[in-house]
Amino acid sequence: MTDIESARPVSPAYLGGPDSPLVASSSLYGPIGHDTQSRKLQRELVIPVRSGRAWTVPAGSVCRFTIIEGPQVLDLNLWSLHDPRERFWAARTRQFYGAHISTGGRLWSNLPFLRPMATVVADTMEYGRDGDGAGCHDLLGTRCDPYVNQLLAGTAYDFHCHSNLTRAVLSHGLTEFDIHDVINIFQITGLTDKDELYFMKSCPARVGDHFELFAEIDLLMAASTCPGGDLAVPLWGPDAGGEPNCNPIKVEVFQLDESLLRTWRSPHRASYLGGHGLSAPNVHPPLTAAVPVPREDVTSRGGAGSGSSGGQP
Ligand SMILES: [Zn+2]
Repeated sequence: MTDIESARPVSPAYLGGPDSPLVASSSLYGPIGHDTQSRKLQRELVIPVRSGRAWTVPAGSVCRFTIIEGPQVLDLNLWSLHDPRERFWAARTRQFYGAHISTGGRLWSNLPFLRPMATVVADTMEYGRDGDGAGCHDLLGTRCDPYVNQLLAGTAYDFHCHSNLTRAVLSHGLTEFDIHDVINIFQITGLTDKDELYFMKSCPARVGDHFELFAEIDLLMAASTCPGGDLAVPLWGPDAGGEPNCNPIKVEVFQLDESLLRTWRSPHRASYLGGHGLSAPNVHPPLTAAVPVPREDVTSRGGAGSGSSGGQP
């Protein structure tokens, strides 16, 4: 490495312009998160301990996850209700917002869709970063599963989050192969200083703490109350073996007052046409020869292409 390279400050790689859809407008999403009086409860369910549930969330509504008895982490998956090939993409979301997400962050979908599926509009945890560099609502890790459990502990267990999610989506026509990397709500995680190894800490959530997602498109959601409970007891390693403290979590879906949605538009899927250089010349042009295209607002109304929501406010 040259002196010039080592002196150059690092900066985030994935940055948008001033009107980038990476940024959720505070004038639109602030009132959606704050004006809870005008909401109408559409659906309520409780996910029992060590279980999974799946439910639908119409575009333009809010889904709230609430701690009701004690601390508990929740593993969440999201799909487009109309095309389950479109699903939450934790890695790209992490590149946009960091390893943990809170109010104003958006959960993005995979390729070739690449649009915000949901926007975080409330988070009572407001955890920030602690002395270990850990944060809350984890995008670093993924769900626990019976395969890694058998690998690490040599025991078979059928109620890890991967299995809970699998059972939850069967009635929606999905299978184990549709389960994907999650957002771990209420989960405190980080990477160790020395080796950048993933660690988890006890969940500090209290009764009444909640986390809310505004649905940008019609969604199917599925979530698992992790059998690790509040993660105070390690699942693997020399200190494992104790029974975790597990608690249920409440899920509510709220219809919003139309006045909150006047300027909201359900997002289009990504506008790239999918050429992929399939009819390319023999000599491939450099990146700086990229062809300018008219900028399309990802949040503009419409989006009738494959996988669009079909649900307008
Ligand atoms: Zn789990």
